[in-house]
Amino acid sequence: MQTGLEDQLGLYQKRIPIFTRSVKGRFRRFKTSVLVLAYAIYFLLPWLPWSRLDAPAQAVLFDLPGRRFLIFGLTVYPQDVIWLALLLFIAAIFLFFVTGLVGRAFCGYFCFQTLWTDFFIWIEHKIQGERPARVRLYRQPWDREKLVKVGGTHALWILVSFWTGLTFVAYFTYAPQLVVDFVTGQAAAAAYITTGILTLSTYAAAGLMREQICTYVCPYGRFQSVMYEPETLAVHYDARRGEGTLGRAVVRAGRGIVVERRRAEGAVAEERRRSSLSAGQRALAERNEKGFGDCVDCGLCVQVCPVGIDIRDGLQYKCISCGLCIDACNTIMDSFGFPRGLIRYDSEKNLAAATPAPPRVQWKRLKTIGYGVALALMIGYLGYSVATRGSFDRAVNQIRQPLYVVLSNGDIRNRYQIRITNKAAEDQTYVFSARGIPADALDLGNFNEITIKPGHSGLVQASVRLSPAVAANTQHFELVITPRGKPAEARSEKVRFDTPGKRP
Ligand code: SF4
Ligand code: SF4
Repeated sequence: MQTGLEDQLGLYQKRIPIFTRSVKGRFRRFKTSVLVLAYAIYFLLPWLPWSRLDAPAQAVLFDLPGRRFLIFGLTVYPQDVIWLALLLFIAAIFLFFVTGLVGRAFCGYFCFQTLWTDFFIWIEHKIQGERPARVRLYRQPWDREKLVKVGGTHALWILVSFWTGLTFVAYFTYAPQLVVDFVTGQAAAAAYITTGILTLSTYAAAGLMREQICTYVCPYGRFQSVMYEPETLAVHYDARRGEGTLGRAVVRAGRGIVVERRRAEGAVAEERRRSSLSAGQRALAERNEKGFGDCVDCGLCVQVCPVGIDIRDGLQYKCISCGLCIDACNTIMDSFGFPRGLIRYDSEKNLAAATPAPPRVQWKRLKTIGYGVALALMIGYLGYSVATRGSFDRAVNQIRQPLYVVLSNGDIRNRYQIRITNKAAEDQTYVFSARGIPADALDLGNFNEITIKPGHSGLVQASVRLSPAVAANTQHFELVITPRGKPAEARSEKVRFDTPGKRP
């Protein structure tokens, strides 16, 4: 049910197509480099061979039937879920940390949605031409040219989407075999369903919806403002410099400078008039002297924007901080011989200063230092945990009901349950011994050793029997578990021994 404003506006706003103009510059080059690197990693990684005895020779393989992730030489089992939790925490804190410093840099350069949309725009550009040609094609009736160019664009988008989906599936099964099975109809149903869903969603998100995903679907754009501080760097238009006191002024050869005046509030274009300036008077000093700002109102910053906004209207939640408008404006500033940086990464605080300083990342703030410290601690712990992980996990629990048993000859017996999880890539046999008590005190019943498959756990029941004299002097002892043939990987566990009279 719609009410109030919704009645007037409707809940859905039809997408207005955006035809971006291509641009050259520092940020465009950086975006392209990130895209090439990210695509190289995503599409090539499943094809990277890695020699293994008990699994397909694939460097990164998420082996769901085997309940393990094989990542180069590392095998991750469900028991290592703490690593996944840590990784998610690190990713979240890293996002907050970076946003506090440089705004939505993640969105502009690294987000999957941005990367795929960027590539799809590149395809569109290659087939349909630069912005004016694409606008013309969009407006012309459906003829042979439009059918071929638009159809070709969508066909290529679907092909890239399909390969994106199939590549994702290749992370879960041996890639060369998957492609053969997929083509011959032998692949698992899940492979076809997953590839189909990802093909459709990639095509819809990067080809059809594009900036609508960032604006309406992704929650990050909505709560980014919580993480912004006055010192945060973001893409800003220097309105003081760009507008001067009289507003922007367009230079048009032979017709002088067309001035767009604005009201004192500066919100809406109010009046257009021809200025008395001649076309030759483009020098910055002359413009500034007459009260005009540095913005020549060329509109290039709007034409290159992938989300179709005008950054001159101020910082907006739709802006993904891609920096393309900076490149565009710098190109214009260069052509007029004006200083660069009319649009730039800067902070609100610096822009508001009487004389803005050169923009720089301001990290000396409590919040960013806090994020930085938390990040360093978690990354350090994760690194330490991965580097020092043994080839098996163990847990020794004392059976507490009863805590101890006094045998007929006076000896005291405690019982324990030992759980071992094999994290090695092959079957492993474990042997047990004890330190701090007589060698024959440890009794494992019929099991003197246990063999466990990779990624599986095994339980062993053990009991320790001590004479009253030894028991009286034994608070703890050490249970030693050794993978057979690998004494260097032996691990010991300090275990409590209870006797009558001791506090439980
Ligand atoms: S205004 Fe547009 S082009 Fe400029 S940084 Fe934001 S999203 Fe990118
Ligand atoms: S690109 Fe620069 S000069 Fe051109 S309209 Fe945008 S801000 Fe003004």
